[in-house]
Amino acid sequence: MFPASDTPRQPNREPETVHAFIALGSNLGQPVKQLEQAISALDQLPDTHVLRASQMYANPPMGPQDQPDYVNAVALITTRLSPSELLGALKGLEQAAGRLSTRVWGARVLDLDILTYGDQTLNSPTLTIPHPGIADRRFVLAPWHEIAPDTRLVDGRSIADLLDAAPDHPVHIVLPHRDSPETVSSHPIASSAQGET
Ligand code: ADP
Ligand code: MG
Repeated sequence: MFPASDTPRQPNREPETVHAFIALGSNLGQPVKQLEQAISALDQLPDTHVLRASQMYANPPMGPQDQPDYVNAVALITTRLSPSELLGALKGLEQAAGRLSTRVWGARVLDLDILTYGDQTLNSPTLTIPHPGIADRRFVLAPWHEIAPDTRLVDGRSIADLLDAAPDHPVHIVLPHRDSPETVSSHPIASSAQGET
């Protein structure tokens, strides 16, 4: 069902269960609904469970500005899929959601990226882990900080520290029960926005 792993498995050895963080993004169709569906779909992948999912964060596009704002979220999963199997599964979900090939940083119905996979580092032509864009992307760091602020990348940097240092970018939590989202472009993120009434 999924592409074979880069590293062949020993037949009598069970694959390890690994924690991985996944970035979700969308700016076409109904982004919030598509991200919610994608989180459910992640939970239904073979040998994979969603442990935590952030709220939805709206923000203007990086790169080409002639496209709608994005909605982003981050999920923590456990999986027994290998990195390449997981990437294949995420691409399958993108296709199922109706994603067509687009230009780099172009509009998309669903984008699913692997942020981290356990404490592994990977640099292949198709997969870079940790994801190389993490430190520059407040729209990834803000939802990640909401669900796991103490997470450290393999180089020791914590998500909280990376968020403090990230380039400014207006990121708004999309609260379903509110008409206008709060702006939370600077740290702290979720706690202050939720604490206000
Ligand atoms: P982007 O997410 O950068 O906007 P795409 O979703 O079109 O771009 O992905 C382009 C390629 O990036 C994918 O086909 C995939 O092989 C590669 N890639 C490299 N590292 C990762 C990663 N950590 N997560 C997801 N895709 C990755
Ligand atoms: Mg992607």
